[in-house]
Amino acid sequence: MKICVIGTGRMGSALASVLLKQRHDVAVWNRTASRCLPLVQQGAVALPSVADTLATSDVVIVNVIDYRVSDELLHAPEAADALAGKTVVQLTSGSPAQAREAHAWSAERGIGYLDGAIMSTPNFIGTDAASLLYSGPKSAFDAAHPAVIDFGIATHVGTDPGLACALDVALLAQMWGKLFGTLQAIAVCGAEGVDLDTFSRHIPRFAPTVKGATDDLIARARDDRLAGDEQTLASIGAHHAAFHHLLEIVREKRLDAGVADAFDRLFRRAIDRGHLDDDFAALVPLLARRA
Ligand code: NAD
Repeated sequence: MKICVIGTGRMGSALASVLLKQRHDVAVWNRTASRCLPLVQQGAVALPSVADTLATSDVVIVNVIDYRVSDELLHAPEAADALAGKTVVQLTSGSPAQAREAHAWSAERGIGYLDGAIMSTPNFIGTDAASLLYSGPKSAFDAAHPAVIDFGIATHVGTDPGLACALDVALLAQMWGKLFGTLQAIAVCGAEGVDLDTFSRHIPRFAPTVKGATDDLIARARDDRLAGDEQTLASIGAHHAAFHHLLEIVREKRLDAGVADAFDRLFRRAIDRGHLDDDFAALVPLLARRA
């Protein structure tokens, strides 16, 4: 296939490399042209203008820093003209609203549009450890499929162009919960003399319990089973009693209280509303959209 990649930073270069390995005809463009050189050595063609690069290809992969930059590049009159009849695969990270707007702009001009979210770092691109989510018209997914199939596991999550970005934000929210939790744990280990290798070794042993609690929380949110019942694994009261020990260490050892206080506020709001004996899932409405 004739494919171009607009933006050859860390991620764009990884995507272009995979396309070259699959022996597609690949044209590349980057703001700093020298970033294209390693790809040229692998067989890519680097052209000086965005419009010329777009003109070479049927499928256009875009991976720049944000949608503002992508819009600047693709909405320039020459570039917009060159895009007519082609399929754009937008792999720049963005919000669901930006994805829907980009789709509307493309649809008005007869440009196929598929929005994508890369749930992976560049080192996994081209392997089954990379997951890429796509949303938008099925016809755009089908047109782009031969180009994107080798980036990693490709899933078309729906025809609403904003869905891939929405899922991306939800999955990243979960990741940040884990990373900020890990920051808090590292602070506790430092304050209490637990060496980090020991901490790290115990994470996989605790993992089945954490996964079980996470899966249970999602199932209860889905089924609206928020009250405490026979299947409740731990009530809000039980969680908060254990959580209190984190608060104690944070205060005694003078650790930053930002993360712990945020969690404590949520626990206290639920307890004030009478949910002490309810399932942890009774916290779900506290973070949901306000009525
Ligand atoms: P990067 O900084 O390595 O590359 C950024 C790219 O944007 C470069 O090609 C740069 O030239 C281009 N760019 C920035 N400002 C520009 C401008 N004003 N005009 C023209 N081009 C401009 O970043 P990256 O890690 O390759 O990330 C690229 C996109 O991929 C981002 O949207 C990022 O969120 C997304 N992403 C990255 C990862 C990752 O692990 N690196 C994972 C998932 C998604």
